[in-house]
Amino acid sequence: MTNQADPAASVIARAQSIVEDLTFAEVTRWKREHTGALAVGYMPVYVPRPLFEAIGCLPVAVFGGGDRTDIIRGDSYFQSYICHIPRSTIELALSGALAPLDGMIFPSTCDVIRNLGGMWKMLFPERYGAYLDLPQNLTPALGGRFYAEELRRIARELEARGARPLDAAALREAIAAENARRALIDELDELRRSKPWLLRASEAYVAVRAGTVLPVSEHVALLGELLAALTRREVRAYDNVRVVITGAFCEQPPLGLIRTLEKSGCDIVDDDLQLGLRMIEQPITVGADTDPLVALAEAFLKNGAATACRYIDKAVKGDALIAKVRAANAEGVIFTAASFCDPALLDQPMLERALTSAKIPFTSFKFAENTGQYQTIREQAGAFSDSVKLWGGTP
Ligand code: SF4
Repeated sequence: MTNQADPAASVIARAQSIVEDLTFAEVTRWKREHTGALAVGYMPVYVPRPLFEAIGCLPVAVFGGGDRTDIIRGDSYFQSYICHIPRSTIELALSGALAPLDGMIFPSTCDVIRNLGGMWKMLFPERYGAYLDLPQNLTPALGGRFYAEELRRIARELEARGARPLDAAALREAIAAENARRALIDELDELRRSKPWLLRASEAYVAVRAGTVLPVSEHVALLGELLAALTRREVRAYDNVRVVITGAFCEQPPLGLIRTLEKSGCDIVDDDLQLGLRMIEQPITVGADTDPLVALAEAFLKNGAATACRYIDKAVKGDALIAKVRAANAEGVIFTAASFCDPALLDQPMLERALTSAKIPFTSFKFAENTGQYQTIREQAGAFSDSVKLWGGTP
């Protein structure tokens, strides 16, 4: 199919160019249109974006430098045996690429992000930087209260730098907009599960990820446009193996690697690549008498996705992954973790054990955001998909 004949091509291309733009031109454009408003960067995996939108800020996810950033100074700030994303983030910051951002939030994803937050404060003492502690206790009375107070603190600190004061009506509106975005992402995800050939995982990936640098209203428009275009798209179905990707929730694999998996005979019918926008698994409900900030905090406690970066209390490791595989009618799992990613790699043996008990085949490899050679991965994924097709098991 030529691009002229593909009704979805232009919106996917636009999303890809937003995702690949390391100058954050969309953020600069937004700031030009919102004089004096703050753009606030954040590291993966999750921050509650409605909080920032409600106080007039643009939340902007920073996923490091991808595969198009030469690390020159970033390496000298970190030991060699950690993942890649902090080095490329420092490289971007030192090169001035993060200049459109008025500050950075470092959520409590892992020790690496915590250290990066400290580094940011030392390198840029005049710019805003905050560590966002996420609750490790899932009761509303303790974890919920703590988390809501953390969010209030950040809103107050940003207000001191020019953001609007936190206002319940504005937060309700921002939460409703986030719910609308989430519903559209759900529609895309459902489409991938039911007709994976109609929207490839790599295409859905850029469409969703574009929303991490856009205001929610613009992302809702982009997703709506894509969904409408897909109703007119005509593509051939392939008899691929249906797989779920897990472990790539923070540092992101290069787009070429996702496409390589697709070319190796896999339909990626679910993944955790852009977990940040999918972290809350249900619409966030705000009762008429409820403080919307409390509702936002409690949504994380009650409906947060089971992932290596979120405490799961009494839930059993692996249950959520098995449920995801079943819901997607997937035939296997590919563990795709960033090299040296402690959260993903410490969880993996427990998840593998659960899959083995459930007789779900899996394979695994590691990547870095700047991985450039895909041949070995293609062969491994190809052997996996062949073996699942032929015998329903691991190679
Ligand atoms: S890739 Fe893993 S170890 Fe590295 S910052 Fe992200 S969660 Fe932490």
